Amino acid sequence: EAKSAGYNQRRFYSEAHDRAVRERVTLFEELNSALEREEFELHYQPEIEWPSGRIIGVEALLRWNHPSRGLLGPGGFIPLAERTGLITPIGAWALANVCRQARLWRDLGICPPIVGVNVSAAQFFTASRFESDLARELDMRDLDPGTIEIELTESVLMQSSRGETTAIDRIRALGVRIAIDDFGTGYSSLEYLLTYRVNRIKIAQQFVRGLPHDPVSATIVRATIGLVQEFGCEMLAEGVETVGQLDFLVQAGCQSVQGFYFSRPVPAEEVTQLLRRGVIAPEDRASNTPR
Ligand code: C2E
Ligand code: MG
Ligand code: MG
Ligand code: MG
Repeated sequence: EAKSAGYNQRRFYSEAHDRAVRERVTLFEELNSALEREEFELHYQPEIEWPSGRIIGVEALLRWNHPSRGLLGPGGFIPLAERTGLITPIGAWALANVCRQARLWRDLGICPPIVGVNVSAAQFFTASRFESDLARELDMRDLDPGTIEIELTESVLMQSSRGETTAIDRIRALGVRIAIDDFGTGYSSLEYLLTYRVNRIKIAQQFVRGLPHDPVSATIVRATIGLVQEFGCEMLAEGVETVGQLDFLVQAGCQSVQGFYFSRPVPAEEVTQLLRRGVIAPEDRASNTPR
């Protein structure tokens, strides 16, 4: 009896496993055709200088309008895209669209100083294709390269080889901005901050979440702000949801913020409305209802 129970259990595991594999294969096939079916869209989240409320930038965040599952956030498909290499064409699509949108805003006279786009390590290191795509887009759209900010994670800095000219140096030489995303969550040495003169660091939401009361978060954030000031680097705090978090950050010396407190990531047309006004205050968070 014990034997057959074991057998049944094994069979159960293997059926569940088969199902999981089939689901992954389906998702892969769907993701593979999502580009040609034009199912991707970019939403944009404003970056605010406080207390002026001025919009100093926007960050592009990828969404997949899945035929049956609805709008999916990057968490649901970016890891698969990274594992399978699909991130390279998907990321190229995102980059091209961000540049197209930045040019549109410039033509309307409402382009924010910074238009940010996230780039995965897997995409960044694909045999210099990223760099040439970037240079071509800037050239084709006749964009001011200083408007575009590439958001990299600490893992990209770690994988870059020091001492030689790296992709990061070459991108900086194009005049494009580099930001370090989710700063503090990786394992990179502080030395990297000096090695690659990055323009900006984005303090991870993970540390902002505990503000103002959690003493560990408060210490980490204060120390990070002090460090970034020493380096003469720009900074922004991610994931600001409450006035308590905002007040703490501004008092600690970080006046650039991004988060649901001001606005969720919204479709291009909606962020265009915000950019026309140029400023945003929590009390007029037009589209800040949960979506
Ligand atoms: P990220 O670059 O750190 O982006 C910030 C994430 O935090 C976004 O999630 C945003 O919606 C969310 N967020 C912003 N403010 C708040 C807040 O106040 N509270 C909370 N709880 N969350 C907030 P999203 O859009 O799901 O993106 C997740 C990650 O996916 C991004 O993290 C980025 O690493 C990656 N990603 C997004 N778009 C792209 C892309 O085009 N290419 C690549 N390679 N990665 C992307
Ligand atoms: Mg980002
Ligand atoms: Mg981040
Ligand atoms: Mg991130």
